[in-house]
Amino acid sequence: MQLLDCDVEEPNAHILLKPSLEHKQTVFIPVPKVDEERCTYCGKCAEVCAYHAIAVVGKKVLVFAELCHGCGACSYLCPEDAISEEGREVGVVESGRAGGLEFVHGRLNIGEVAAPRVIGEVKKHINRERLAIIDVPPGTSCPVVMAVKDSDFCLLVTEPTSFGLSDLTLAVDMVRRLGIPCGVVINRDGVGDRGVEEYCLKEAIPILLRIPLDIKIAQLYSRGITLVEGMPGWRESFVRLFDNVKQIANTVGRQQGESE
Ligand code: SF4
Ligand code: SF4
Repeated sequence: MQLLDCDVEEPNAHILLKPSLEHKQTVFIPVPKVDEERCTYCGKCAEVCAYHAIAVVGKKVLVFAELCHGCGACSYLCPEDAISEEGREVGVVESGRAGGLEFVHGRLNIGEVAAPRVIGEVKKHINRERLAIIDVPPGTSCPVVMAVKDSDFCLLVTEPTSFGLSDLTLAVDMVRRLGIPCGVVINRDGVGDRGVEEYCLKEAIPILLRIPLDIKIAQLYSRGITLVEGMPGWRESFVRLFDNVKQIANTVGRQQGESE
């Protein structure tokens, strides 16, 4: 089994799993380098850049490397072939083992914006022959979509508050657009209201696990101890959760295969 932490801006799975990280690979993005001899200052590169990472000011082309996502559009569309690319380090991917688990995580350098690139490098480690669990950042932004897409199932962890419900609604919309089946884990069960439950019922989304608001659980987490390690009575609930996820993913996969 593999565990890939794709929350590259704030990876934390290693704190709980304590893997031995044996391999480290630097992640680069290709940023433009302009040959002023060839450039006619036509401005096409600036027009095409969705991230405002390149600008033409009079007889000068300015590249804002920290804003560049390395998409390559400017060099591809430059009519004078005046743009080459040079690698710029944006993060690292580290891998190793945590017991029987193959562990991989990415770290985006502070201040960088190219999270999807680092996530893409982490996901290259996925072995289709094995079961891969991907830890995804919160929200529904570009890095989240990059981390989630092509998954067989998405487990959405929320809490029973109006904030939790709002985020959950957006996340469900995202996974449905991506065609990925989902289920919910309610964390800090007991706080807030019944909004999340009612929403799940209305949308036919299974609630697969409830973790109560419990000071002992928070203390374990703050000491870097997993719930199952610190309170072994939870083991059975997590095994059942895992079995349910596999069953739903297999059923949906079969249905999709039949309809193709
Ligand atoms: S598109 Fe090419 S030629 Fe035009 S301004 Fe940019 S670098 Fe110069
Ligand atoms: S590579 Fe893409 S993001 Fe970077 S400057 Fe060129 S067009 Fe903009």
